[in-house]
Amino acid sequence: MSSSNRLPKLLIFGFAWSVSNIGYGQLTDQPSQRASTHSRLIRMHMENPFLSPSKLALFAPDFGNIKNEHYLPAFEAGMKEQLDQSRVISEQADAPTFENTLVALEKSGEILKRVQAVFFNMSSAHTDEIIQGIEEKIAPKLASHSDDIFLNKKLFARVELLWAQKEKQSWTEEQQRLLKEYYESFVRAGARLNADQQMRVRAINEELSSLTTQFQNNLLAITKERAVVVDDVAQLDGMSIADIAAAKEAAQAKGLEGKYLLAITNTTRQPVLLSLNNRDVRMRVFLASANRGLGENGGLDNRPLVLSMAKLRAERAKLLGFNSHAAYTLENQMASNPVAAFKMLQDLVPGVLAKAKSESVDIQRFMKQDGFEGEPKAWDWEYYSEKVRAEKYKIDENLVKPYFELESVLNNGVFYTFGKLYGIRFKERKDLPVYHPTVRVFDVLSLEGKQIGLFYADYYQRDSKRGGAWMDAYVSQSRLLNQLPVVVNVMSIPTPAAGEPTLLSLDHVTTMFHELGHGVHGLFSSVEYPTLSGTSVPRDFVEFPSTFHEDWAIHPEVLSNYARHHKTGETIPKDLLDKSIAANKFNKGYETLEYVSAALLDLGWHSISASEGPNDVEAFEREMLKKYGVDFAPVPPRYRTSFFAHIWSGGYSSSYYAYLWSEVLAADAFAHMRTLGGLTAANGQAFRQKILSMGGTREVMQQYKDFRGQVPTVDALLARRGLK
Ligand SMILES: [Zn+2]
Repeated sequence: MSSSNRLPKLLIFGFAWSVSNIGYGQLTDQPSQRASTHSRLIRMHMENPFLSPSKLALFAPDFGNIKNEHYLPAFEAGMKEQLDQSRVISEQADAPTFENTLVALEKSGEILKRVQAVFFNMSSAHTDEIIQGIEEKIAPKLASHSDDIFLNKKLFARVELLWAQKEKQSWTEEQQRLLKEYYESFVRAGARLNADQQMRVRAINEELSSLTTQFQNNLLAITKERAVVVDDVAQLDGMSIADIAAAKEAAQAKGLEGKYLLAITNTTRQPVLLSLNNRDVRMRVFLASANRGLGENGGLDNRPLVLSMAKLRAERAKLLGFNSHAAYTLENQMASNPVAAFKMLQDLVPGVLAKAKSESVDIQRFMKQDGFEGEPKAWDWEYYSEKVRAEKYKIDENLVKPYFELESVLNNGVFYTFGKLYGIRFKERKDLPVYHPTVRVFDVLSLEGKQIGLFYADYYQRDSKRGGAWMDAYVSQSRLLNQLPVVVNVMSIPTPAAGEPTLLSLDHVTTMFHELGHGVHGLFSSVEYPTLSGTSVPRDFVEFPSTFHEDWAIHPEVLSNYARHHKTGETIPKDLLDKSIAANKFNKGYETLEYVSAALLDLGWHSISASEGPNDVEAFEREMLKKYGVDFAPVPPRYRTSFFAHIWSGGYSSSYYAYLWSEVLAADAFAHMRTLGGLTAANGQAFRQKILSMGGTREVMQQYKDFRGQVPTVDALLARRGLK
C-alpha cells in the first residue's frame, strides 16, 4: 500500500524529550529578557495556547488560537520546563523509587509534548515557509535537549539502581516494561559512554537532525518544481477529460497559457502513467518522478545530504558498540537484528522475481501490438499492466471508482466495519476548531454513548501537505495523566473538480482502512503510562494492526455495504465486485519486487561501516540492487535513494522492511479471524483486548501469541499477495 504510517518523530517512546539549555538561555537569560515582568509572563501564558492545557474537549488542540508565532516560544519554554523537571528528579536526595523517578519522568514535559504533537503534524500536513523555518531551527535543539536528559549521569544512575532491583520488586508487568524502556533508552542514547564519546554523539545527533529537516524540505520543493509541460493536447491522449482540464488549469495557474502541466505528485507513483498513451510523455513523467533529488538542471540535490546521513549514522552506531546503524536500530525491534530482516526479504526474492518476470511476458504482448519490441521500460509497466488488468479482469479503475464515493466509503465501509468489530460509533462534531476547512472531527463513542476519544480526518491532498498517508496522536491515552486519546488520520486524496463527488481508487479505500487501523491502536489504548501508550510499539509491529484492517475493505459483507454507485445508489454488480477482489492480487510480483528492492536498499545503506562510506549515491544503489539480485530494470525500487523519505526523514531508517514483516502478522491474523467467523463482535473484542489496547505494556511477540495461540507463518502472506 502506498500509505506510510508516521510515528510521532522525536517523541522517543512517548515522552517528548529533546533541546538545549543553551538555546533557551539565549532567549531568556539576556538582560533585556530578564527585565520581563511577571505580568508579561502571565500575558504570554494567556496568549500562547501551548503553555497551559487546552480547555477544549479531551484537551483537543486549540487550532482556533494557535498561530505560527506560538511554536518557537512554546518549544523553548517546554524544553526549559522539562529540563528543570529532570534536574529536580536527578538531584533529589531520596533514594530512587518507581514513583520519584519513573513516574516523575512520565509526568514531565507537558508543554513540550503539547507543542510537538501539533507542530510536527502541522509540518507534514499543512506546512508553510514559517513552519519549515521553525523546524530547521528547532530540530537540532530538540536533539540536543534529548541528549541533555538521556546523557544525564545522575538520572541514569537512578534508573540503573531501579533496573538492578527489578527481580526483587513487586512491580506490575506494565511497570517492568516501563523500567525496561527507560533503561534501554538511556543505554542506547549513550549513557554509558565516556565524556568525549558522548560529546561526539551529541554533535552527530544535532547534525543529523538538521540534515533530516533539510532533506524533507528539499523534497517538498523538488516535487513542486518537477512538473512536465506538454504543448499539444494530442499528447495527453488517454487521460480523462477531467484530468486534462485539471492539467490545463494547472498550467494556467503557472502562467503557461494554452499549455498543459502534469504535476509530479508527492507520492511514489505517478497516477497519470496509467493512462497516458504517448510513450514519450510517459517517459518524461516517469523520469521527472524517478530522478527527484539528483540535482538535475541545477535543481535541488539530496545526494550530499544522504551520503552524510549514512556516514554519521554508521559512526554513531560504532560509538554505541554496533557494527552498523541497522544493527543498532533493529536491536529493540521484533526482528532483533539485520540478519533476520535480510533473510525475510531475500527468501522472497526468487519467487517474487519469477512472478514479476511472468507478469512482464503479458506486458510485452500488449507492447508488441503498439509496435514495441523487447523488455518493457520502467515507464511502460503501469500503463500496459492496466491493459493486462482490463483484459484479464475486464474492469478498469474508472468503472469501479463511481462505486467508491468518499462519504459512503467512510460511513458505510470504514466506520461500519470498525463499529461491527468493536461496538463503537463515530459522530461528527462541528464545534472543535480545525487547521484547514476540509479537516473533520468525530467523537468516537461506545454503543452506550461513552466517550472513547476523538478522531480527526484530513483526507485531501494539497500543496502544503507531504505525500502519502499517516496517523498521528495529538493526545496519547494515559490513566496516569487522565488523558483520553485524540488521533488524526492524514491522506492525500486528489480534490475533485468543483461540484464533483470524491471518487476513490481501491488503493485509497484500502488506505482509509489502514490508517484507521493505526487510529484504533491509539484510540483503544488502555495503559497507565504515556510512554507505553497506543502505537508505542516496535516499528516492525506497528504496521500490523493497520495492515490487518486493510483486508476488511474487500471483505464481501463490507464491500456490499459501502460500494454503491454515487448517482444511482445501486450496489456494485457482483461480477465487478468479484473481479475487483481478484484484481487485487494482480501485479503483485511487480509491487512486491519494487518494495523488496527498496527495503534491501534501505538495509544496504544502513549496513555500511563508519569507515567504508560510499561516495557515489547512484553507483552504490546499482551495486546494492545487483548484490541482492533485484536489478531488474523494468521494476525499479519503489523509492530511489534521493527521495526515499521514509528512511532519511521519516524515521524508518533500516526499518522499511517493517511493512512486510508486519504484513506477515496481519495476513496470518486475518486468516485466523476468518476461520473464526470474520466480522463479529467476539473477534473484534479479542483483537482489541489482546493487541489494540496493549500499547507497549507487553512484549509484542507475546501479544501476538496471546491473540493467535501460536507464532505467525508466512503462508497467509504469500496467499494474500498471490505469490503461492
Ligand atoms: Zn501504516
